[in-house]
Formats: sequence, structure tokens, C-alpha cells
Amino acid sequence: MKQDYLNGLNEQQRAAVLHKDGPLMIVAGAGSGKTKVLTTRIAHLMSFHKIDAFNILALTFTNKAAKEMKERIEKILGNSDARNLYVGTFHSVFARILRSEAHHLGYPNSFTIYDTDDAKSVVKTVINELNLDDKLYKPNVVYNRISSAKNALVGPAEYAQDYYIQQEDSRSNRPAIAQIYAAYAKRCFKNGAMDFDDLLIKMYELLKHFPESLHKYQHKFKYILIDEYQDTNPAQYEIIKLLGAVHENVCVVGDDAQSIYSFRGATIQNILQFQKDYDDVKVIKLEQNYRSTKSILNVANEVINNNKGQIPKELWTENAEGEKIRLVRTMTDNEEGKFVADTIQEQKLRNHFSNRDFAILYRTNAQSRAFEESLRRMGIPYTMYGGVSFYARKEIKDFVAYLRLIVNTRDEEALKRVINYPVRGIGKTTIDKILLMANTHNITMWEVLENASLAGFKAGTLEAIEQFVTMIKGCQSMLASKNAYDVAFHVGKQANIVKELFNDKTVEGLQRYENVQELLNSIKEFTETPSNDEGEVGDKGLSAYLQQITLLTDADEKDPNADTVKLMTIHAAKGLEFPVVFAAGLEEMLFPNAMSINTREELEEERRLFYVVITRAKQKLWITYANTRYKFGQLQQNEPSRFIDEIPNQYLDRTFAGGGSRNQGASYTQGSAFDRMRGFGASEQAEKLYGPPPAKRKDTVPSYIPPKAAPKVVEHTPSVNFIPSDTSNL
Ligand code: ATP
Ligand code: MG
Repeated sequence: MKQDYLNGLNEQQRAAVLHKDGPLMIVAGAGSGKTKVLTTRIAHLMSFHKIDAFNILALTFTNKAAKEMKERIEKILGNSDARNLYVGTFHSVFARILRSEAHHLGYPNSFTIYDTDDAKSVVKTVINELNLDDKLYKPNVVYNRISSAKNALVGPAEYAQDYYIQQEDSRSNRPAIAQIYAAYAKRCFKNGAMDFDDLLIKMYELLKHFPESLHKYQHKFKYILIDEYQDTNPAQYEIIKLLGAVHENVCVVGDDAQSIYSFRGATIQNILQFQKDYDDVKVIKLEQNYRSTKSILNVANEVINNNKGQIPKELWTENAEGEKIRLVRTMTDNEEGKFVADTIQEQKLRNHFSNRDFAILYRTNAQSRAFEESLRRMGIPYTMYGGVSFYARKEIKDFVAYLRLIVNTRDEEALKRVINYPVRGIGKTTIDKILLMANTHNITMWEVLENASLAGFKAGTLEAIEQFVTMIKGCQSMLASKNAYDVAFHVGKQANIVKELFNDKTVEGLQRYENVQELLNSIKEFTETPSNDEGEVGDKGLSAYLQQITLLTDADEKDPNADTVKLMTIHAAKGLEFPVVFAAGLEEMLFPNAMSINTREELEEERRLFYVVITRAKQKLWITYANTRYKFGQLQQNEPSRFIDEIPNQYLDRTFAGGGSRNQGASYTQGSAFDRMRGFGASEQAEKLYGPPPAKRKDTVPSYIPPKAAPKVVEHTPSVNFIPSDTSNL
């Protein structure tokens, strides 16, 4: 095969692709082709060096990135060999491995994966059982403490012994967290369940304590490649160190300036440590950016230079200068939403952009509302990432709980969900009794049910329990011979779920019925997609299906190629690029966020987030912020973000857009960005930005009249260069 894929790579990129054996680290700025190099490297290993796909492990940050990587490799190779690659997120790859190895650790191989809701529910149960005050020990807070400990590889025993942790827990008046952690871990184990963090911890324990498993995977994964390495946490780091120890063909790719997950335990130290862990690390820097215009890149460089302790690298581009970055202030968050929707419409008309060319990126999910409303009003289709996931809906969780119970009867959370759904006369008192018996005899709830006749239930209750047990066992008997869809279909019928939903003729009921149908469709699709796994894990059974859906994030459920405007947090936009980006809500307390301004480290992480959002843009970038916005039901006045001051004036086009106040109602509804700007006497500026306005509008849209009773607007009498250049006091 000709190596066409090497054409067009620059010298450093080519060196990274051609480097075959030994540790390799690529540290490079945004848009310099890190992900492209990783993908091309895999293709080269396979096509030129004839490395078997089964021997390559590639770890990406999202399932979507993994899918894209496979597709691109298939395209380069011109065949479907890439199907057999182990490409995925840390969690999905480790879940796959644990499904064939978990028995070593005393878990069933069909262990359940608890999502955050399940995990928090177990934490809550444990807190109640320990008779602790759940106002003080909020399940949410406790769960986060446990999660942080796990990601730092601190188990319950170490946690209980750690002096500093004890100090911190005492300071927060929660000395019993260690006790809860231990009880929680025990309960998950009893339930045959792992939470998300366990997928890392248990993988680590497996490799650490079971040499046979360690050797198996060390030899299997001859080449290991990791994208977004700057965001790995200590647990992930240690696992890679173990897996890569024999062949040492570990290639990591990252950008310290884009490290944005330290709140989840990721540490830039992993990049610095990499060079110390291996003897002969080849380090390659990529400095040419292929993504953005010079203007965008200049701004990104200026901003990140305010952080101390970055690995020095200068990012440059041959791309065109491009337009200045537009800085837009609006009076309210609603007007920010309208401004963005108007501008998208305008840009589509003027510059022939499609919906999919735009992304609206923000710091917190709550900001999406104003954008959604305006886009909807304008009839602009959009996809929002980070909303309630399909799989988080109640009817879906209920149905899936049946499937989980059938695969793993130890799964107490699933059992509790379905034992009386649809209603079958097993009430709360009975469930409490079952739970108490299980705890007293140290058996599972399911074992209590199996022996219900010995437990002294009332006749009616006993009959209901026995019917339930018989039904579940009946479904279990199908597991060995039937695929996931056949079992799920059977469950829907036997448990009466589908009929029950069908009979509910309310609008919500209909929606729920359709959702369950959709779930069944997706299971069918799963069973019909050709298998690309090795025999050990590659079945089409229920267990494989459940693993897959538990690790799906809401981003995976959406079609990335749909012609829609994309709305997401900056965290979710990592690694992505869009022709036009709106970086929204650049206000003090929001971005940088109030939660993250107490230390220099926190502030620097916020700045890295700002760097990430700037560098998502290819051609055009708008930075917007609002004077006021509602937060927790309160109207708040906002100062512009300090990060805005870090952008030299020469790169900015400062535009005031807005008017009116909340009391006054929105002023944007009347017309486009043009009209508003013309209303403010900024027509020259508007024309410069957008060209001459459409003729028919000139006469029909009235100029904006500043509201009378809005002193703040008067105070900010708009002019083109509205924002004072000296904002050092902010
Ligand atoms: P990020 O830090 O945001 O993850 P990255 O370093 O992974 O960025 P890529 O996403 O791999 O960068 O590449 C950025 C863009 O530049 C992509 O559109 C990619 O196709 C393009 N690109 C990379 N290298 C080249 C090249 N040598 N020639 C042309 N285009 C390139
Ligand atoms: Mg990338």
C-alpha cells in the first residue's frame, strides 16, 4: 500500500508517525495535529509494520473520539481491520477487560456498572444504615469525596489511616466519611457492582495482584497510545505504567495548556513524570497550528502566557490573518441569547455557513437556556449536549433495571427499582423487611426472595414474590441461548411493562411508551451490528449490551454530523473544532467561576479553559458577556471577566450590542444585529462587520429608542468602543 497518508504531514508530525518502538511523548499546543498524528501512527503501525489490530490499545477521552478515530483509520487503510483495535475511553476499555477478568477479584463477570445515580443511592442507603445524619452527610458530597479518593488510588483502609484526610474530614465536621467509604465499597461488592471509578481501581488491583492477568495484557498490548494525556489521573497513570512496562511502546499526546480536569484528580505532573519513568523518551513538539486564523491564535497565545509554569511552546500558523475577535456585551443573558441567534442567522445568510458550522460554548450547563430559547424562536435547529440523557429517564432506567437484575441478581439497586414495578403488591414495608433480613443474615435481597416461603410473609405477598422470582428466573434461562433483544422483548412482555405504558394515554404516558419502544429498537440495532470483538467479550448478549449503554454519555447518543448548531460546555468541547465559535458568559464569578478563584492554581485552570474555548474556533470567534443574569433565581449584576482584559486591544473588535433592561423587556426581538447596532448609531460599525444592511429593512425597522427608566443603560451609553480600555480595576 502506498503511504499516501504521510503526505502533507509536517516534519515533526512525520517523525512522530514514523517513530516505531520506545516511549514517545508529543507535547503540543491546540490544533497542531496531535490527534491526527495519533490516528496516522496507528494506521502506519498496521499497514506498514503489519502490527495486528488486536495488539494496539488506543485511549481517547470520549467514546465519540474513539469512534471517529476508528473511522479515520479505516478510511486510511481502506479495509475494516481497524474494527479489531482496542480503542475507547479508559472506562470502556477497562470495563471490557474486567468482563473477562472480574472473577479473579471475586466479582461476577457480568458485574453491574453503577452510574452516578445508582452510586449515590447506595451511598445514601449506607448513610442511613449507619444512622448518620444525611443533612450533614449529604450523599452528593460524600460520593464526591469517595470518588476523589478512588481516583487518587486511595482505598477505604488507606483513607481511614491518612492523617491529612482525617484532618480535612474533621474540619468539615464529617469524621465518618471513612466509615461510609468502607461500607459503600463492601455494599457494591456484595451487589456485584462497580461504579465508574471502580473500573479504574479494579483494573489497577487486577494488574497489581494477579500476575497472570498482568502478563496477558502486557503482552497483548504491544503498542499503547493515549490522547489528551494531560487529563489522566493517578489511577489511569499507574495502570498505563503497568501495562506498558514490558514493551515500553507507550505514546502519549497532550497539551499542558489544556489540562482542565484537575477537579477530577487529573494532574499535569503526569506529563512531567513521563520522561522520568522511561529511560529513553523521545519528545516531539508540534508548533504549527492548522486549525485557526492568526488572529485567533494570537489571542490564545496571549491569554495562556498569563499562566506560570507552562511547558514553553510557541504556536504559529500559516493560516490567514482572519478577522479580529468580536467582543460583545449585552444587557441581559436573554439578550446574549438573542444576539447569538441573530448573528448565526446573519452569518448563514452572508457567509453561507451551515448550522453545523456554529458552536455555542459556555462554562456551565445552566447557561444553555437563553440560547435554546432564542434558537428555537428563530427556528434554528440545534443539538444540546449535557442535558438529561435518554438513559437517565425513569422509564428507561426501570426497564434497564430488569435487564440488570436478570444478568446479576446481586444488583440490589436494580432489584429495589423493579420489585414493585409495575405494581404487584410488594410494598415498602415488605421491601424494608427483605432488606433487613438480607443484612441480618449477610445474604443478598435476591436470596431472601428465593427463600421467601421461609420468611413468614403474608400469603398474598408471598405469592407476589414467588411470581416475581419465577418470572426473573424464566428470563435468566434465556441468557445462554438468546441475544439481548430477544431477552429484552420477553421481559417487556412478561413484566407487563410495555402494556402498562401503552394503556397510559396521557401525553407523558405516550412519550414514555415511545421511549421504551425506542430502547427496544436500539437493543435490536445492537444485536444486528456486526461483532468486532474477540470471542471472549464479543457476544451479542444482554451483559455486553448493558456494559455498552452504561458507559454511553449523552454525547454518544447524538449524531455529530447532523446539520445543527452545537451547544455544550467547554469541558465537553475538548478536542473538537468549529468554523465559528461563540464563547459565552465571560463574566466574573461565572468564568472564572466563583468556585475556582481562591487559589492561583484554580484560576490558572479557569484560564486554561478559556484557552480551550478560544482554540476551538477555526475562522471566527465571538466572545460575549451580559451585564445581568439570573442565577439561583436572583438577578445579578456582572463584571466582565478578568480574562477579557488579558486580550490586547489590537486583536479585539469591541462592539456594544444591547439595550433595554429586564423590566423593559428584550430589545432584540425587533430585528437583527444590524438593526440594534443601527439603533445605537453604530451603523458604520455594523456595515463594516456585516456589509450594507438589506435594503428593505432600512425603512421598516424602527430605530431603537433607549428606555427611559433604565439608568444603567444611560450610564453605559453605547458607542463602538464602549468598553473602557483601562479595566485594571475590575
Ligand atoms: P486539540 O489540542 O484541540 O486536541 P490537536 O492537536 O489534536 O488539537 P487535530 O485535531 O489533530 O489537533 O488537528 C487540528 C486540525 O488541523 C484538524 O482539522 C486536522 O485535520 C488539521 N491538520 C493537522 N495536521 C495537518 C497537516 N499537516 N496538514 C493539514 N491539516 C492538518
Ligand atoms: Mg486533539
